[in-house]
Amino acid sequence: MTDTSSAVADKIRCDACPVMCYIKPGAAGACDRYANHNGELVRVDPHIILERTVSHGGRLVPFQAGGDWDGKIVHGPSTFVTAIGAGTTYPDYKPAPFIVSSEVDGVDMVTVVTEGIFSYCGVKVKIDTDRYLGPETATVRAHGEAVGHVTTSEYGSQMLSLGGVHHLTGGSKKEGRVTCDTLLDLSNGKPVELTIDGGSTVVVQAGRAPVVNGLTEERMRVGCGSATIGMFAKQWQGKIDEVVVVDDHITGVLSEHQAGKLLDIADTGIKMKGRRSTPGRYFQVAEPGTGWGGTNISDPLAILGPFDPKTARPGLTMLMVSTTGEHAAYYQLDDGLRPVETEMPDALKQSVARIQENCEPALCTVLFMAGAGGSLRAGVTENPVRLTRSVKDALTRVTSGGAPVYVWPGGGITYMVDVTQMPANAFGYVPTPALVAPIEFTMRLSDYAALGGHMESVRPLSSLKDNAELLPWPRQGPIPGQGG
Ligand code: SF4
Repeated sequence: MTDTSSAVADKIRCDACPVMCYIKPGAAGACDRYANHNGELVRVDPHIILERTVSHGGRLVPFQAGGDWDGKIVHGPSTFVTAIGAGTTYPDYKPAPFIVSSEVDGVDMVTVVTEGIFSYCGVKVKIDTDRYLGPETATVRAHGEAVGHVTTSEYGSQMLSLGGVHHLTGGSKKEGRVTCDTLLDLSNGKPVELTIDGGSTVVVQAGRAPVVNGLTEERMRVGCGSATIGMFAKQWQGKIDEVVVVDDHITGVLSEHQAGKLLDIADTGIKMKGRRSTPGRYFQVAEPGTGWGGTNISDPLAILGPFDPKTARPGLTMLMVSTTGEHAAYYQLDDGLRPVETEMPDALKQSVARIQENCEPALCTVLFMAGAGGSLRAGVTENPVRLTRSVKDALTRVTSGGAPVYVWPGGGITYMVDVTQMPANAFGYVPTPALVAPIEFTMRLSDYAALGGHMESVRPLSSLKDNAELLPWPRQGPIPGQGG
């Protein structure tokens, strides 16, 4: 139940967000989070409290310090009040929906929870793949609407930046709605199909393998082409004359690479296309694509020029392999010094298998990012900047659905959270449009009073449990504010 309503005829007006829905009996508001239940405005989803018992890594402590202890007495179970299902207060000066006190190891603590409404939010997506998804800064679309853009390539991954206030509020109404839906689905762990201008279609789901142009990605590269040479050069020594690790970014060539030089691997007269960076390391051997090593080629010989007849010899052997080991071919030079593909010897098959074995599974990672440094703070304290300072001073711990967050240095409380660390369906939305995300601030009660907290609204944990759903603490490690 919440006090954020007023009745008109038999409808209730919800004032938990700026939309201010009138809700008929038995119906839900525009966000499906609040409903009119027999004339009472209720939050539809249960309020989630996480409980950690010994089986979830809870601590065992002696019942009486110094006394005989058989190790069976449990301190706890430890309980943490999340903001999931807690509801929202609006406007912001109203105290957060739940400000809950608890005692931990003799210290009075308080956790302030609210389902924050974030117009300034988005997701950062990391897609483990070598395949070319699209040019940097290209627009990313869902259902044809622009919802974000391609950002940098990282080591074996392509990053996307989706959402943000520009797409939520700065474009057409449809763009804002589709952006909101996309962020909501990704944050709640659902699959979303994205198309990239001038690039690929990719299905992204947090914690799952990406599906690029209909193909499920299996492996994340073991390293760039040069790194792969560095890792496996010794295993190739004596078994092969030349190895080329094909990579859209840095293609490696064993005989020229420092690793090959240190192992006294002889020159082969190989001639690479592309731009030579340093010995045995080549950039831009082909265009980016979804072929070998994230290039657009299906025939690796396309990146070679003719072998130098002064150095090369007939019978010379060469392995060409991609950075994941997904593609590999074995060649011998014929009398005209042309590479001819032949059956790969077992020893080299094993080295390709070793590359594959060293690749980690390809996954999509979704980090929700939002700015809680604005008006939301007023629900925590009458003097909002003190909350920001308290977070920066590490006196206040910020979590999202109980999950640890990374708070960006600098101004505000801009945080990121791995959505797979949060309980299921922790996110909601309001049609302004904006995302609704749980956020909790945990601190000592004395610190809360000092920063101008809403002390009159502090309530004990026991006042919540009847209306709440208890879920097991999903992680190892401490509950916020509870030390080890
Ligand atoms: S959108 Fe949801 S939170 Fe906002 S007023 Fe309507 S029911 Fe209440």
